[in-house]
Amino acid sequence: MLTNLQARDVETLIHPYTNLVAVRETGPLILERGKGVWVHDVDGKPYLEGMAGLWCTALGYGNEELVEAAATQMRKLPFTHIFGGKSHDPAIELAEKLKEIAPVPISKVFFTSSGSEANDTQMKLVWYMNNALGRPKKKKIIARMRGYHGVTIAAASLTGLAGNHNDFDLPIAGIRHTTAPHHYRLAEPGESEADFATRLAADLEALIIAEGPETVAAFIAEPVMGAGGVIVPPATYYPKIQAVLKKYDVFFIGDEVITGFGRLGTAFGSEAMEMRPDSISVAKALSSAYQPIGAVMVPELMYEAMLTESSKLGSFGHGYTYSGHPVAAAVAVKTLEIYERESIFERVRAKIPQFDARRAALEDHPLVGEARGKGLVGAVELVADKKTKRQFDPKLGMAAKCVAFCQQEGLILRNVFGDAVTICPPLVISPAEIDELFDRLTRALDKTLDYAV
Ligand code: PLP
Repeated sequence: MLTNLQARDVETLIHPYTNLVAVRETGPLILERGKGVWVHDVDGKPYLEGMAGLWCTALGYGNEELVEAAATQMRKLPFTHIFGGKSHDPAIELAEKLKEIAPVPISKVFFTSSGSEANDTQMKLVWYMNNALGRPKKKKIIARMRGYHGVTIAAASLTGLAGNHNDFDLPIAGIRHTTAPHHYRLAEPGESEADFATRLAADLEALIIAEGPETVAAFIAEPVMGAGGVIVPPATYYPKIQAVLKKYDVFFIGDEVITGFGRLGTAFGSEAMEMRPDSISVAKALSSAYQPIGAVMVPELMYEAMLTESSKLGSFGHGYTYSGHPVAAAVAVKTLEIYERESIFERVRAKIPQFDARRAALEDHPLVGEARGKGLVGAVELVADKKTKRQFDPKLGMAAKCVAFCQQEGLILRNVFGDAVTICPPLVISPAEIDELFDRLTRALDKTLDYAV
């Protein structure tokens, strides 16, 4: 029986990433307030937010400094755009800060309101750049199976998950997907992680050659895949992939929308994964999700191409009303200040051994085939048979069931492709709360096991 608020919800709202038939029966979980890593529903039940919302509320809930930064900017100047040569202090300060902390040489920053818009912009800029450089045929983009880059028409095309393509008539032309770096599922029997990485680099090279290197413009990758099931590539993967990209002059787009800002214990995930992208997308933790903001961090070569096109065409014809929105930018500036002032990334590094140990211990559970992760992000992949790695029939929705048991236990997690349950708490989680998270997840796994047998 739905509550009044739930009934009003299902009569009015379309929920993203939701079974729209099932939610009409169950109604949504309606949350009301939050503090630290905890959120409360409308009945006052507390939940440990083990996914930081959608991998984003890095500083947790109820951070008054961020609220104050937004309120102050709203009172001063709630909106002005940065089109046609106008500007404002928060956007300038944020761009300066991003340039300063970037893990690779960055020349300029372009702002968006989301990760999808950032990756969409990346694609347009790669095409624009190659036109400016006089190589109009070099336009194809290679992404990876199980990669997640968003849902706009271009970003969803880059995403390597069937659920984002089926019946949306995607991907668009000119996008290719190469093998996911998932050793547990895709390695040959006895193949080491290093040999697996070598084979994946060879796969990429074969794809570039088959397409024609003169047609391949860019490769996009998350340092650690998130929504594809938290896939951590082998240690030698990026150096090997980058050698191939370099050989064929393929631009490397780093999608740091989840890994950006401390998730792997370093400011950017690239630093933790020996990844050297040419450009970088960020969003989510850029403002700890207190405001919708993303950014594309652009190297000099790409910026020069934009100057060339501006001279030729009279203007750089791209931008969103909310590019560099002053309130979002002010909150992001404050967020980056807090990360630095409170040594958030160092403190994440101190928590990783405990998080790793608790995560790894889940591999002893009869339902868990692989408990993987890096830094403060992880996933458990549920299997019907640990020895053979046989998966459950997807129709059983085992990971979804586990997530529902987590909810009963007062823990919010998510289930994603391949019966994986993902874990990505706010970076400010305490050691006691890390134990609480894994205790609750273990109880939910036990209930799922009872349900399965
Ligand atoms: N890229 C990555 C790696 C993501 O995880 C996401 C969202 O989860 C996106 C891009 C898309 O971001 P948004 O949902 O803000 O459009």
